[in-house]
Amino acid sequence: MSNTDFVLAIEDLTVSFDGFKAIDNLNLYLDRGELRVVIGPNGAGKTTLLDLICGKTRASAGSIKFKNEEMTRLPEHIRVRAGIGRKFQTPSIYENLSVFKNLEVSFPRGRGVFGALGFRCDDEVRAKVDEVAGMIGLADRLDMEAGLLSHGQKQWLEIGMLLMQDPELLMLDEPIAGMSAKERELTAELLLRICRNRSVIVIEHDMEFVSRIAHKVTVMHQGKILAEGPMEKVQADPKVIDVYLGH
Ligand code: ADP
Repeated sequence: MSNTDFVLAIEDLTVSFDGFKAIDNLNLYLDRGELRVVIGPNGAGKTTLLDLICGKTRASAGSIKFKNEEMTRLPEHIRVRAGIGRKFQTPSIYENLSVFKNLEVSFPRGRGVFGALGFRCDDEVRAKVDEVAGMIGLADRLDMEAGLLSHGQKQWLEIGMLLMQDPELLMLDEPIAGMSAKERELTAELLLRICRNRSVIVIEHDMEFVSRIAHKVTVMHQGKILAEGPMEKVQADPKVIDVYLGH
């Protein structure tokens, strides 16, 4: 496979904070439709890597190509428009608005029949809200105030708000934090549904959940990739056991 076939191609990526390399000459390639989980000890550089991909942090050196387009120096909002979606750990939903409204306001302006004028076509938005609400399991909660949802449902709503923008790459930071066992399973099913036609990168610590969802696992340590591959392979890697799984 040539590098142009990957949805995301990261080469020689480095970022330094006051001389400290939080990401050190890192290479990572993501297939279309792949669900990649990034694991590693605290301080390994996992969050910084996602920050670099979405543009929250700028690289010191190296390149990030998304769908073969150079993103490295582009601002965050342009990367969002290009199809890179990022969910942070703390939900940023509008608690006082209904589930429907939360999804509706997340539909990008400037799409649809009247897109050029910045209007939104109601039917198109409604259809998208219905599609996304079904996907995240909240189709019967559209009229509910978002603040009244359970913790898990709030997390799914936020994923839904990202899906309203049709990202081709979705990045999630510890999506099951604070969830019940049932909510964790529903989240696994949701992520596997999402990657039927999108690529997903997840940072996660819960190894049972990682085994459940990962197509491939990237293990980070000290800003570098320590190991990469299917879960069974990295789990058995003595280097990984030594710096991460053994503790
Ligand atoms: P992880 O997500 O794997 O726990 P992080 O990406 O948060 O790791 O952090 C990697 C390293 O980079 C840590 O040592 C952290 O202190 C450092 N770091 C991250 N962001 C900054 C920043 N903005 N300024 C200085 N150091 C930072």
